[in-house]
Amino acid sequence: MNKEIIKELKSEIKTLFDEVIDMKKLNEVKAEYLGKNGKITELSKQMKDVVNEEKKEFGLLINELRELFNEKYEEYSKNLSDAALNKKMASEKIDVTLPAQKIPVGAPNILEHIIEEVEEVFMSMGYDVVDGPEIEEDKYNFELLNIPKGHPARDAQDTFYIEDEKILLRSQTSPVQARTMLSSGGDKPIRMICPGKTYRRDADDATHSHQFMQIEGLLVDKNISLSDLKGTFDVIAKKLFGENCITRFRPSYYQFTEPSVETDISCFICKGKGCSLCKNTGWITVSGAGMVHPNVLKNCGYDPKVWTGFAFGFGAERLAMLKYGINDIRTFYQTDLRESETFDRREVE
Ligand SMILES: [Zn+2]
Repeated sequence: MNKEIIKELKSEIKTLFDEVIDMKKLNEVKAEYLGKNGKITELSKQMKDVVNEEKKEFGLLINELRELFNEKYEEYSKNLSDAALNKKMASEKIDVTLPAQKIPVGAPNILEHIIEEVEEVFMSMGYDVVDGPEIEEDKYNFELLNIPKGHPARDAQDTFYIEDEKILLRSQTSPVQARTMLSSGGDKPIRMICPGKTYRRDADDATHSHQFMQIEGLLVDKNISLSDLKGTFDVIAKKLFGENCITRFRPSYYQFTEPSVETDISCFICKGKGCSLCKNTGWITVSGAGMVHPNVLKNCGYDPKVWTGFAFGFGAERLAMLKYGINDIRTFYQTDLRESETFDRREVE
């Protein structure tokens, strides 16, 4: 038994790990001593040549060597993994003093915003907000509204036809009024507005769009007169354009109302003195309205001798253009983010 070799290995093991800087090196060292042909393994193989009296002592010495090696191995293995973890944690540390990354925040669509504003005013006066189909039947879009086939009023509302001349994209939101009257059964008062998309076969330019939005409303009850319409319009105009807004009616013509009016507000820029927005008239036209035509009431199941009502219609784009000084209707439909940035409604509120 060569005790010298064992002694040498022992001191070797004590300093062996000082050069270990990573797990790779650590595993190499393990293979060098405890691997198949490792130094300690080789020494164990010599047991068979040791004389019987010394076998026990030799065995103990070998075990001592193994234990020493394993102890050192565990110690360095733990140190290395702790160091790796610390390094990882240091690299992932969040510096709370760094400036925050700015997350872009959206703004409500300008037309939706206007519609919601109008809806709120009408809901506060007891109106319902009613929805209707954008793909509509000729019957609801024209015929029930006193615009029979071949009537010249249809020319101004030329739209997109889907099936023959029966199914079309609605050219106005008025068919929702017809539908509401019919479903009300002719014996109940109605107070409703029906905002939504409408379509016409117009070539797009600064003031025309093949798609636009209307906010129409209808009130049917007993003893309703034009002065009720005037009062209602006055409330909504003041709400949208300020308490100093003055309103007026001018006679007009629509097929589904009689009498019909165009509704003007005093110019909110020049306060009536005259400017480019109001074309020096001091007035701006914002909607069309009138008393529901007796034929329309009759067509939709209401007896015009008992019931009267008024109807009105705003263009949502026109309201938004006036309110925010937008001069091109195409701005609303070009999905240009600069639009929502420029007219950020959060600041307006
Ligand atoms: Zn003006």
